[in-house]
Amino acid sequence: MKIIKPSAIILTPKDGIAALQFIESMARISHRSEDMQTNESWKKFLTSVVIQRGDWSVVEHSNSTVVFRVDRGVTHELVRHRLFSFTQESTRFVNYQKKGGELEFIKPVLLPETGQWHWEQAMISSEREYFELLKAGVRPQEARSVLPNALAATISVTGNLRNWRWFLLARTTQETHPDFRAVTVPLLVQFRDLIPILFDDIEPNARQVNNFQKPH
Ligand SMILES: Cc1cc2nc3c(=O)[nH]c(=O)nc-3n(C[C@H](O)[C@H](O)[C@H](O)COP(=O)(O)OP(=O)(O)OC[C@H]3O[C@@H](n4cnc5c(N)ncnc54)[C@H](O)[C@@H]3O)c2cc1C
Repeated sequence: MKIIKPSAIILTPKDGIAALQFIESMARISHRSEDMQTNESWKKFLTSVVIQRGDWSVVEHSNSTVVFRVDRGVTHELVRHRLFSFTQESTRFVNYQKKGGELEFIKPVLLPETGQWHWEQAMISSEREYFELLKAGVRPQEARSVLPNALAATISVTGNLRNWRWFLLARTTQETHPDFRAVTVPLLVQFRDLIPILFDDIEPNARQVNNFQKPH
């Protein structure tokens, strides 16, 4: 049994400014002002069209892919965001006996000291019984029923930048599950560093009611 830290890493875009420049070039089609675009015009353009005028639809022209390694409670909440595209590690098709013979679990960030021992015992026992089932000839897709929510899973998530903004507004708040927030708050920092302007007004741990009033 291995206990690992959860993570979320932006795979694309590699160049956030290029993503914003692409949005600008697509948005300029409406006014046939493509010839006005320069290397530096993205900042002024996005500020006036998106932030001040509120035309968030143009932001849908650029996408981002993020790879999460989180527990299965968090993947379940993630896939509720219907406009994203997903690929998730499968407990039907992965035979963990053949993939290192060890399961990876993610410990709840707010698990109190009094719960530590019981939690670890539960993980040890579910891992042991899972491998016993495989040894007895049970297929992974049936053996998986003894695995807990704490099992780590990799999930790749792709969506446009408008959808990522909504996701970060919804999932970095005080009301977000602490194990979800443990990856979304650092993810928000990555988005803000990589792609200026679009995520600058999102504050970690805000109240949901305030975030839901922000434009998106
Ligand atoms: C703190 C918190 C607690 C939660 N607790 C629960 C819970 O107890 N039980 C539970 O079942 N869920 C729960 N959820 C999940 C929640 O109900 C949503 O399913 C989830 O957050 C996805 O967000 P979304 O519906 O805004 O849309 P997304 O799927 O992310 O879509 C983005 C936006 O697109 C638009 N859109 C997408 N699909 C449609 C559509 N079919 N029709 C019209 N507009 C659409 C909407 O404007 C939507 O906001 C919780 C979420 C949070 C953040």
